[in-house]
Amino acid sequence: MRTLIHKLADSSRAVEDRLTVRAHITIAFAAMIVVLVGALAAGAALVSYRNTSELVNTRLAAVASITAERLDRYMAIRQQEVHLFSKLEPLRGLWQGDRPSLRKALEQLQSSYSDFAWIGFAKPDGTVVAATGGMLEGASVAQRPWFRTGLHDVIVGDVHEAALLSSLLAKRADGEPHRFVDIALPVRDAEGTLLGVLGAHLDWQWAQNIIARTEATDEDADTTLMVMSKSGKVLVGAGMNSTRYAGERLATMLETRSGAFTEKVGEQNKLIAYVVGRGHREYQGLNWIVTASQPTAVALSAAAESAKNILLIGAGIGVLGIALAFLIARRISHPIHAITLEADRIGRASGPSMLPRQRGSLEVVQLTQALRSLLRRIGFAEERTKEAELRATENALQFKDDLSKLRRLADTDYLTELMNRRSFLAAANDAVEFALRYRRNIATLMIDIDHFKKINDTHGHHIGDIAIKTIAEIISNNIKSTDRAARFGGEEFVVLLREADEQTAQALGERIRRAVELAIIGEGETRLSATVSVGIALIADGDRDVQDMIERADQGLYVAKNTGRNRCFFMPASEDRGIRAA
Ligand code: GH3
Ligand code: MG
Ligand code: MG
Repeated sequence: MRTLIHKLADSSRAVEDRLTVRAHITIAFAAMIVVLVGALAAGAALVSYRNTSELVNTRLAAVASITAERLDRYMAIRQQEVHLFSKLEPLRGLWQGDRPSLRKALEQLQSSYSDFAWIGFAKPDGTVVAATGGMLEGASVAQRPWFRTGLHDVIVGDVHEAALLSSLLAKRADGEPHRFVDIALPVRDAEGTLLGVLGAHLDWQWAQNIIARTEATDEDADTTLMVMSKSGKVLVGAGMNSTRYAGERLATMLETRSGAFTEKVGEQNKLIAYVVGRGHREYQGLNWIVTASQPTAVALSAAAESAKNILLIGAGIGVLGIALAFLIARRISHPIHAITLEADRIGRASGPSMLPRQRGSLEVVQLTQALRSLLRRIGFAEERTKEAELRATENALQFKDDLSKLRRLADTDYLTELMNRRSFLAAANDAVEFALRYRRNIATLMIDIDHFKKINDTHGHHIGDIAIKTIAEIISNNIKSTDRAARFGGEEFVVLLREADEQTAQALGERIRRAVELAIIGEGETRLSATVSVGIALIADGDRDVQDMIERADQGLYVAKNTGRNRCFFMPASEDRGIRAA
């Protein structure tokens, strides 16, 4: 379970990382708006639905109640009329008088209200004395319930089909049997002796008319009214005479006397409001149940409509809210986006760069300031690094320069600026190695100043140095750039000639010798001339290295010294060996 939660958290974080701040804010806002507006709209829709459905209930209840009242009031008036008629003083004599007069009086009462189908007076034994239209006169109604109760009490009997009268009355146009409501009461003389029973049959058609009128005048065409007896039998409405309600439902209706419920009738759900009639004044009422019903779909369509409208408005507000959330999110995230783009640009750009100031919120201002100060520091550090790099390069160049100077110093003779012995030998070795390998000519001159000790002794050491320098210059000026000259020690020089045969070497030796002989050496008042002796040698097949050739040149110099000085002597390789042997 825990790992599952961790995994979910990880994946949600991975999704979060891919979303922009704008998306984050939009989603958060949108979720909040959807929840808030959704809850509000749903609540409002529910309240509105309840209110409207309550209103529908109330309206239906009112219709049922008015109808019940109308029925009761009607019955009460009829009962009162019959009662009044039986008590009228001027009529007293009629009850025991002649039949035609009584019949006439009864017919007058009937004419007062057309719904009286039959009014008759029966003697206490049940024989009808007189009746409207002469119907049932002489017949016995002793077994009729209205008569039996009417003997001692005012009764209003519930709706029933005509029994004795059915054959006497004209057939109804709709083919339905005649239905009556009976009103009967005892008629007594001044002393209270029972004279007979006055009975009236009211045509039930009037109730149907009331219902039809009420239904017709009701503003809602879908409202259906129904009247039932207290036993649940339909008196007016569809399924006449059938039992519509029974058992618990009926008991509840009679007990509560008014209310509402929904019921499935066929395919339709119906909202039913009911009222049980309470009677009117002296009329006790027969506990008729009046129901007003409407298909739920119709009854609550207004409620559903208003709920739907509220939800639609809610959805509209939600969409507007989300759009607003998107705009706000864009406004909030814009500076961050701009900073990111700028930072990216700065990251790619070379050279110092500065982030432009951004505005939008305190955090954005602070972030910009922090980044700007960071960039300043980075710029400063970059500058310093560059300076350090420059210094390092300068130092390296200086070092290289110094090193080459040192190397030159190390390789150069301090007095003559010719190569010294060490550097000469290194260079000569390479050249000789090359010449030996590729069988090229290479020659060496060994030059020594004649009687130098005498110059030193005569003119001093300083002038001796000047003589050394002058002769070094003469040597330098007479050799090619590819040749090498060195001061080998004291007043002794050595020259290495590349690509030089015996003749060339002899010619160069001679040229130098001659140049020295002709040169005037000195300083200030001092003037002198000097000569040099030159030993010459060529590289030979048997040579191992430069030393062998130098040694031979040295031997040539020895010969030149011993044979009069101020001259050149070429020392051949074979002769060299000969001398060595000697
Ligand atoms: P030779 O003709 O036989 O060569 O006679 P020499 O007098 O030249 O004899 P050597 O070549 O043996 O003499 C070398 C002298 O050179 C010895 C030393 O006093 C002198 N000498 C060596 N180096 C220097 C130097 O750097 N400066 C000066 N002024 N004299 C030097
Ligand atoms: Mg010497
Ligand atoms: Mg010498």
